[in-house]
Parts: sequence; structure tokens; C-alpha cells
Amino acid sequence: MKDVLIVGFGIAGLTLAKRLELKSKTFDIISDESQQSSKVAGGVLNPVALKRYNLAWNAEKLMPEAIQFYSQFNQNSTYFEAITVYKLFSSIEDQNNWIVASDQPRLEPFLNSKIQSLDAQVQTNFKSGEVLQSHLLHLKNLLQNEKLRYSESSQFFSNTFRYERLSFNRTNVEYLGVEYKSVVFCEGFGVAENPFFNWLPIYGNKGEYLIFKSERLNANSTILKSRNFIIPLGNDLYKYGATYSREGLNDKPSQEARMDLESKLSEMIDCDFEIVDQVAGVRPTVRDRKPIVGQHPEHKNLFILNGFGSRGVMAAPHLSKQLIDFIFENKEMDKEISLSRFLKFYA
Ligand SMILES: Cc1cc2nc3c(=O)[nH]c(=O)nc-3n(C[C@H](O)[C@H](O)[C@H](O)COP(=O)(O)OP(=O)(O)OC[C@H]3O[C@@H](n4cnc5c(N)ncnc54)[C@H](O)[C@@H]3O)c2cc1C
Repeated sequence: MKDVLIVGFGIAGLTLAKRLELKSKTFDIISDESQQSSKVAGGVLNPVALKRYNLAWNAEKLMPEAIQFYSQFNQNSTYFEAITVYKLFSSIEDQNNWIVASDQPRLEPFLNSKIQSLDAQVQTNFKSGEVLQSHLLHLKNLLQNEKLRYSESSQFFSNTFRYERLSFNRTNVEYLGVEYKSVVFCEGFGVAENPFFNWLPIYGNKGEYLIFKSERLNANSTILKSRNFIIPLGNDLYKYGATYSREGLNDKPSQEARMDLESKLSEMIDCDFEIVDQVAGVRPTVRDRKPIVGQHPEHKNLFILNGFGSRGVMAAPHLSKQLIDFIFENKEMDKEISLSRFLKFYA
């Protein structure tokens, strides 16, 4: 019998698998390609919401844990790196708000109070501010590499999980002839198809990026944020976005998002660019903007790790640890992320 079957290999499944490996637990992973959220994500770990200069949820706790966790993947290749995010001010008032925020004790470690000029070819009448401690996770590459590694050790199965094939024994569960002590569902927005957990209030929010090339932008080693982010991909390629939409919840790029992003990008940069691609994914979001972690109310071998919203990368290492400590050490979970806050929806 194995300890865990993980269903879904986005950032939730990946961080959970790594934590299980570090604890020497036995596990398998089954995942398909029905959801693309983690594959298309920007991978930005940014501790501050840069519109109103509020600290992101739990950033003081989540950032150091995430930095320590993701650094361990950097053995043969750089999947995770520190990178400066520059916020381009939209007005003098915006710049003043930054200066006020950077003086607040909770924001001070994350916002440099010194106002800066940029070398990049951006159109702005104003200067910019530097976000401290930001990082970039090259998530698509990391997912590919980890999938390959787990496939080589015969732990990864590229299949769609069939819920009706799961059977319950007295103390464990069985899937396709293998017994597991627990199953953890990490399906992102795919949870809508899961008969055990589809009663939870997880909603889709579609996000899209343009991929563009610009030889003159001169921002290959920084992230720029105006209304959207410009994220460097190397060799003068960049990602620009992302959009937020509750319509057309699928992974197909839309013409509407392309036009919106293209016009905003033209306003933001002061040089030629060529659009080379467009990608889309659906974020799994929860109305109270907190993730959902926990155990099924009746089937005690079934667990969920989901609802990561728009900042899944920063939160995933902490959330996967909370779940593992709950499963293996019976430690209580933080109430604000626990599935128990939604038990009223379980009929
Ligand atoms: C455009 C965009 C940009 C983003 N940028 C950032 C960013 O810069 N920083 C940040 O922190 N967050 C970002 N996010 C949010 C972040 O990507 C999400 O929070 C995160 O991807 C959710 O991860 P997940 O593992 O829960 O779900 P997913 O990434 O959707 O992974 C779920 C996996 O489970 C598989 N699956 C589903 N159902 C089944 C089934 N029945 N059988 C087998 N497999 C199944 C899916 O195919 C998929 O592989 C962004 C999201 C989008 C869409």
C-alpha cells in the first residue's frame, strides 16, 4: 500500500509531491492536460499588491517559506531567481502613495523608498519604485522537469482520473488495483468535475498573456509593472498581462484579450514589438480570496488542495505543508484556509 495518490500536477500537485518526497512518503501522481493555469502562469512572487500598495495575504510568512522551498529546485538549472519588480508610477499622487506606503513598518521590507529612473524603453512621465524580495519561478520548465523525473521513477501517470473507479475499503482507498492511504485532489478549476468536492465554492477566472518580442525594450533582467506586468523570458522575449475574466472559462486565447492587451502594451512601451504568441488558463478562485485545504467531511481518506487564485506560487509551499502536517501529524490547520469554513454547503 502507498501513502498518497495525487490527482493533478500544477503548482499544488508539484509542491505536495516535493513535500512528500522530503518526508520519504510513498506516492503516485496522475495528471492530464485539461487545465493550463500553472503552465501559463507568470510565476511572479510579488509580496505587495501594486495598485493600492497593500501587503499580499500573509506575505511576511509566505515569502521566506517560498524562497527557501523553491531554492532547492535550483540544482542543475535555474528554475527560481530573485528579480527586481519596478512599479511605473501613473501619476504624482501614485508616487506619493508609494512613498507613504514604504514608510509603513509592514511594507518597509518590501518597498524601496528611493524613487528611481529606468533604462527600459517605457512611455512614462513619471519615475518608478523598486519592490524588494520579488522572485520569479520558471514554472512551466519546472513542471516539465519534475514530471520527467517522476515518470522515470514510475510515479507519474499521464491520464485523466476516473472518479467512478475509486473504491473505498475499510481503512484505505483503491484506484486501478493499487491501494492508497489517502488521495489528494489538486485539480485546479478541474475540481468542477469532481463529485466528491464540486460543492465547494471554487470559481474560474480566466487569465491571458501576450508573448511578444522587442529588441529595444531593454528589460531582459527586470519585471515592469504598469497596469499589467512585463515579464522577461530571455532573448528579447517577454510576457505581457494578465487579464482577469469570468467569461469563456477555457484555455483558448481570445481575440478580445488580445486587443485589450495589445492596446495597453502600446501605451506602456516606447519601442516596436512583435506579438509571437498568446496563452490562456483558468485560475481556481474562492470568493473570500483564501485557498481551500482539508479533508472530505465523510470520506476521511480524501483531501483537497485548491483555490490558489492569482497568487498560487507564493502560497503553495505553505499550503502543501499545512496539509501534510494535518494528514501525517494530525496538526490543526489554520482556520482561514480550512475546508471546514464551507461545511454549510455540504448537503
Ligand atoms: C494567466 C495567469 C497568470 C498567472 N500568474 C501568476 C503569477 O505570476 N504568480 C502567481 O502566484 N500565480 C499566478 N497565477 C495563478 C496560479 O497560476 C494559480 O493559482 C495556480 O496555477 C493554480 O494551480 P493548481 O495546481 O491549483 O491548478 P492547475 O495549474 O490548474 O493544475 C491542475 C492540474 O490538474 C489536472 N487535472 C484536473 N482534473 C484532472 C483529472 N480529472 N484527472 C487528471 N488530472 C486532472 C490539470 O490538467 C492540471 O494539470 C496565474 C494564473 C493565470 C491563469
